[in-house]
Amino acid sequence: MTHIAVLGSTNMDLVAYVEKAPQRGETVTGRAFRTIPGGKGANQAIAAARAGATVSMIGAVGNDPYGAQLRSTLEHSGVDTDHLRTVEGPSGTAHIVVDDEGGNAIVVIPAANGTVDHLAPGDESLIASADALLLQLETPLKAVVAGAEAARAHGVRTILTPAPAQPLPPELLAVTDLLLPNEYEATTLTGLSDPIAAARALLDQVPAVVVTLGAAGSLYAARDGADPLAVPAPSITAVDSTGAGDTFAGTLAVALSEERPIREALHWAAAAAALSVQRPGASASMPYRSEIDKQHN
Ligand code: ADP
Repeated sequence: MTHIAVLGSTNMDLVAYVEKAPQRGETVTGRAFRTIPGGKGANQAIAAARAGATVSMIGAVGNDPYGAQLRSTLEHSGVDTDHLRTVEGPSGTAHIVVDDEGGNAIVVIPAANGTVDHLAPGDESLIASADALLLQLETPLKAVVAGAEAARAHGVRTILTPAPAQPLPPELLAVTDLLLPNEYEATTLTGLSDPIAAARALLDQVPAVVVTLGAAGSLYAARDGADPLAVPAPSITAVDSTGAGDTFAGTLAVALSEERPIREALHWAAAAAALSVQRPGASASMPYRSEIDKQHN
């Protein structure tokens, strides 16, 4: 079975639903409140596990009740949490206000995720045993670089989602096999608003790029000289696009690790992401392999 390692964040999303977000100094009464397990690392891990891989999560939760809940959410999706440390203090949280127009304002407090600034004993051998390592930027860069370097040293494919958007250090780009930005992140990294131009520019820094384009699908470019490949997304009615990019990343990692051709892998990931967009929630909306296959065929 394909083995995917994920180095990244786990957060509890604390979501308040309001008609209109409060201004500074204002108090408003909201309609509802939900706690939703999230974090880009955990979301990608769950997507990959549901897509049929054995998945191991490297990261940290706090020793608070959220930490136990985040761990059990991962375990219920079949993710191995032996390398998910429990540290003193709170778990990472994202404080989200969603208004009636679907707009949101978010405060992220890394907390336990901030302690993931190095590889712990055993992390490197875990990475070495994987077919691919998924990385994002919600944990300190030092560990992201160390994880990617360990993967490269053992010939393990690295797939980096550069979110939240920020300049990437050359030492990280040097050990990234596939960069997976959304359109906004691709523009932030290159200053170019045209995704084809942005993807081409990124090839100066990494061997392959997939830019995700929301309802417009995705765009693949590689240094092999072929023209960029545009893959459409299935046309669906969107209900909640939270976690679409993470579903896409986790599923794509599984398909590529199964040595499926890139065009097929991108279609399969698009099928999975489209399914997740049609249901509410982030990881809760992520599809299982049989559902992805059904949508894909
Ligand atoms: P992120 O969630 O990181 O912002 P995108 O919005 O680019 O990333 O979405 C990631 C992928 O999810 C897209 O490439 C596409 O396959 C799928 N997706 C997102 N929104 C839609 C949509 N409205 N309809 C169909 N697929 C979608």
